[in-house]
Amino acid sequence: MKFIEGIITATSSLHLGDGQSRGTFLPTLQYIPGRTLRGMLGYYLFRYKKDLFVKSGIDEENDIGKMKILFRNAYPVTRDGSKTVAAPLSVRWCKKCGNLIPKNHSECEVPDENGRPCLHEGKKHSGLISRNSFSIRKLERPEMPDRSIETKCPITRDRHSSLGGREQGFDLSPYHIESIDLGAKFSFRMLVDADLEKEIIESLKEAAAVGGIGGFRSRGYGLITFEDLRSTSLNDVIREGESLLSRSNKATLVATAPMILRNGNVSRIGFDGLFVQRANEVLQFAGIHENIALSGNSDPHVTQVIARGWSLKYGNTLSELIPCIGMGSSVNVTAAPHALATLEAYGIGEKINYGYGEIYVLPGMM
Ligand SMILES: [Zn+2]
Repeated sequence: MKFIEGIITATSSLHLGDGQSRGTFLPTLQYIPGRTLRGMLGYYLFRYKKDLFVKSGIDEENDIGKMKILFRNAYPVTRDGSKTVAAPLSVRWCKKCGNLIPKNHSECEVPDENGRPCLHEGKKHSGLISRNSFSIRKLERPEMPDRSIETKCPITRDRHSSLGGREQGFDLSPYHIESIDLGAKFSFRMLVDADLEKEIIESLKEAAAVGGIGGFRSRGYGLITFEDLRSTSLNDVIREGESLLSRSNKATLVATAPMILRNGNVSRIGFDGLFVQRANEVLQFAGIHENIALSGNSDPHVTQVIARGWSLKYGNTLSELIPCIGMGSSVNVTAAPHALATLEAYGIGEKINYGYGEIYVLPGMM
C-alpha cells in the first residue's frame, strides 16, 4: 500500500451537504468527507474506466482485503501545515488561556503573566483542532475556510427544481445555499494499492475536472484541483507514527471521523468487545501479530451521529443511514506502539474506505 497526501484547492464555491437542510437553509460541512471523494472517483471510473472500477475494489463495502483504495476526510489546512483532527471529548481546555487541563485536575494551574496559577475552569471543545495542540498542551484551532451564503430562486420552467419535492408552493420559495469560498485548502490523504497508484492519481485529477464534488454542480459549484501529491510507502508511515508514540503500551484512541461498528445490522454506539474485535481484525489483515485491549479504566466518551452509505453501482446514490460513533469519541486502550500506528493508518470498523473509522492515538492517557 502507498500513502498519498497533497492539497485540495477549491477552484469554485463548494457545497458539502450533510443531507440535512434546516428549512430553506442548506448548511455546508467545513471539510470534504472521504465518502464525497470516493463518490467522485467511483462515479468517474464506473462511467469511463470500468476495468479500473472493478480492479480497485472502490465499491467494496465490507471486506478490507478487497479494498485497494481508502479515502480519508480532507480537513482544512492550518497555517503552519499541521494536521487537523477532531478534538477529543475526554480532554478539557482552560476557558481563559486554552491550556490543556490534566486529568483529575479541576482548574488550570499554568502560571499567568504575574506568575500566579491561572485557576480558571476547563471546558470541552468540540470540532476540529490542530494536532499540535497536544504537543504544546494548548488549544489551537485551525483556520477554517471562509464561507458565504447565496440566495437562489428556483427555476421552474426547466428541469432545475428546488429542494424538498414538489409540494404546492414550496418549490417557489427561495433557498439559501451556504458554501465554502473559492481558494479554500484541505489536506488530502488516501491509501492506494502500490500497483494502482499511477492510474488512480491520474483518474482522480480527471474526475475532479469532469465531475467535481458536492451539491449544486450544475450551478457552478464543486470544482477542485489536486496539488503537490506525493506518495510514501505505508510501512514508512506506520514506522514514523510508531516513533512518535511513547514506549508505553497505554494510549487514548480518538475517533477523528465517525466510526461504524455493527454486528449484522445492529449498530454499536460505544467501545466494547465488538470494537476490540474490529480493531484486531484490522491488525490481523495488516499482518500484525499483536492485539489491542481495553484498559482497566477505559474511560469511554461517546457521541452518536448518522453515517451515510453511498452506492456507486446504483446510480451514485444514498444507500443507507447508519447510526454510528461520532467524531471526538475516545477510549483508553493498551497495545504495542506498532499496533497503534497501524490502526492510525487504516482506521477501525466498517466503510474505512469511505474515511469512516479514522483514529489517532494520544500516548499515555488523556
Ligand atoms: Zn488557564
